[in-house]
Amino acid sequence: MPTRSVIARPTPTGWEGRYCHHHGHPAHLGRVLFDAVNGHFAGDVDAAHRYLIDDHPAGWSYLGGDFTKPTGFARRIDRFADGRNQCYCHGDRDDPAAPLIGQQRAAEFAHYGYVLSHEQLTVLVYRDGRRLEPGADVGWSAQPDWDDLDDRLRQQNQQLPLRLG
Ligand SMILES: [Zn+2]
Repeated sequence: MPTRSVIARPTPTGWEGRYCHHHGHPAHLGRVLFDAVNGHFAGDVDAAHRYLIDDHPAGWSYLGGDFTKPTGFARRIDRFADGRNQCYCHGDRDDPAAPLIGQQRAAEFAHYGYVLSHEQLTVLVYRDGRRLEPGADVGWSAQPDWDDLDDRLRQQNQQLPLRLG
């Protein structure tokens, strides 16, 4: 079963972002987004927003995090081994732009959310059958232990949000 998520930026009233279908758990997607901002985007969070939210408006099938390969959906590859970033609007797919997703819509499908702000990466987790809640605030300056963070966010008794970095 896919682990669905939303990749978002802050707005004056909350956040807005794009759908991501596969591997939305922090041990994969948290790490990919953190590494993308610190690596490929050289700390430019606005550039990351443009790529992740504006330039691929149909949303994402899977973010592999390999920016040396062309971005786009590819039918004849092993999606998870290839590592490329696969959207629904380029490559072998040509889906139309989707509306931006906010808190209310995300609560219908998302297990996790990621809000990229200039200060930090906020990991949202689905809790209490209602909504995505802040699960952890990860500063951009220090790489957390993503596997440990993933484990802790799966434990229902954790006091959230966790503070890291
Ligand atoms: Zn695209």
